[in-house]
Amino acid sequence: MSNYSGIKDFCGVFAIYGHPRAAELTYLGLYSLQHRGQESSGIVSSDGDSVYRHVGLGLVADVFEDPRNVEGLKGSLAIGHNRYSTTGSTSLPNAQPMAIKYRGGSLAIAHNGNLVNSRTLRAQLEDSGSIFASSTDSEVILHLLARSQKSEFIDQLLEALDPLEGAFSLVILTNDRIVAVRDPHGFRPLCMGSKKGAIVFASESCAFDLIEADYIRDVDPGEIIVVDKNGQRSYFLPPADKVTQCVFEFIYFSRPDSRIFGEYVDKTRRKLGKVLADEKPAPNADIVISVPDSSNTAALGFAQRAGLKYDMGLIRNHYIGRTFIHPSPAMRDFNVRIKFNAIGGVLRGRKVVVVDDSIVRGTTLQKLTRLIRKAGAAEVHLRISSPPIRFPCFYGMDFPTRRELIAAFNTVEQVKDYLEVDSLEYLSVEQLLRAVPTGRCGYCTCCFTGDYPVGIEEAYSKYLHERSSNILELDFHS
Ligand code: SF4
Repeated sequence: MSNYSGIKDFCGVFAIYGHPRAAELTYLGLYSLQHRGQESSGIVSSDGDSVYRHVGLGLVADVFEDPRNVEGLKGSLAIGHNRYSTTGSTSLPNAQPMAIKYRGGSLAIAHNGNLVNSRTLRAQLEDSGSIFASSTDSEVILHLLARSQKSEFIDQLLEALDPLEGAFSLVILTNDRIVAVRDPHGFRPLCMGSKKGAIVFASESCAFDLIEADYIRDVDPGEIIVVDKNGQRSYFLPPADKVTQCVFEFIYFSRPDSRIFGEYVDKTRRKLGKVLADEKPAPNADIVISVPDSSNTAALGFAQRAGLKYDMGLIRNHYIGRTFIHPSPAMRDFNVRIKFNAIGGVLRGRKVVVVDDSIVRGTTLQKLTRLIRKAGAAEVHLRISSPPIRFPCFYGMDFPTRRELIAAFNTVEQVKDYLEVDSLEYLSVEQLLRAVPTGRCGYCTCCFTGDYPVGIEEAYSKYLHERSSNILELDFHS
């Protein structure tokens, strides 16, 4: 899937406790997590007395372009956030980490995920006098925390987290502590590491590599880890019926060099390619190519298992700025051609297997397959290392509307015809679950199956509201 495919990444969080250069390391950690959100970035730090904050719209490099923006963030505790807005619009008030002062001191929060009952909670809070500064669901958590009448911070936190439904991987900063929280379903990843006595948390372990921190373990689903001058302690939220980690993190979202849900993404993605080659082979093909970059590893796995040569048939231009102006309809293929180029010397006369990780709208992929044909490929066989995406995600992933999901209302044969390929095959849900690491935790697969694990009624109405459309075709299975 290319970045023009229609799925947007969501958010990345980072936190560090006990390092004299906390803000600087957070800044570097956010760099590694840039793929999880490009709309805003920010850091909040604390020196024990005062809390410092800098947030802005844009990439990490833009927001912290002036080194003084990092230098001014004093103290040995910091949290950071890269945002893609799955709820709330792109505006500075919605940038995270959000910070407030309440009777217990300062409080800042960075959130990855999506609360499915935030509208109800927000309405209840507003009815009882709360005034919101942003349109995000993350602010609801701050309000719940600040309003708790409990005297101990951990009791305030447990009370605030209790009514939340949906996905939340959080890092929280107070004047003198860092807290990491993962919701009981474990939808989004969150891992813990260490760097010379400092404790770090990040959405993905790739953030640890850049700052030379060691990965320790994942934050468990439902676990709350508090780090302060007394060391670290774990508390637990009531368990969910089922742990449902987002399987799409392995398929597409997380970086291949990260370790999430206890396993390396690269290893799992390669296995997805191998299982795909077993389940949906492409006999008589000559070469295997990927849609760079997210499909590279799955394509390698496919080629290895199929005994075919893996080659670079598409080159991706990494230097497209965010300000790229889309051309007129007359040049409608231009945006794909400026991003990808097909290599005639590799493709000409060959029967090509193209491995991609997923299909959302299919519009980009159609242009890509045309590009491959134009470069002289004799046959194009498309293999997808995930099942057809048929349902929206309510847990923090911004899929387009169901109407726009090409597999929602078309058969595989119809999608194949639309994409103008010689064959099209998807990985089945059963084989997908065979390829991802097993253990005590399960996976969410509901964008493929519609079997939503957490009460979606409110999320569904929010979905309709936010899309402001007449999408009435959703037929939820549960
Ligand atoms: S619906 Fe899909 S994208 Fe969303 S959490 Fe579940 S598996 Fe992940």
